[in-house]
Amino acid sequence: MLELRPNCECCNRDLPPDAPDAVVCSFECTFCRPCADQRLGGRCPNCDGELVARPRRPAALLGKFPASTKRVHNPKGCGAA
Ligand SMILES: [Zn+2]
Ligand SMILES: [Zn+2]
Repeated sequence: MLELRPNCECCNRDLPPDAPDAVVCSFECTFCRPCADQRLGGRCPNCDGELVARPRRPAALLGKFPASTKRVHNPKGCGAA
């Protein structure tokens, strides 16, 4: 199951479980679309894997399967702004 991390690793922007512009790599390193496109060239800076759109979890299921609340912020990997 996806963790659905709550923020972008680069810019620390909030990415709620219904965010339409969250992307993840296969390890669930999580970024916002602008960072992925403009700063990362569509590759994860941690594992070099591809970044793809994160599916949104239906709100009705978030009670039983809540999103992660653990923020991961790792701006070093994202290059200079
Ligand atoms: Zn970002
Ligand atoms: Zn990764």
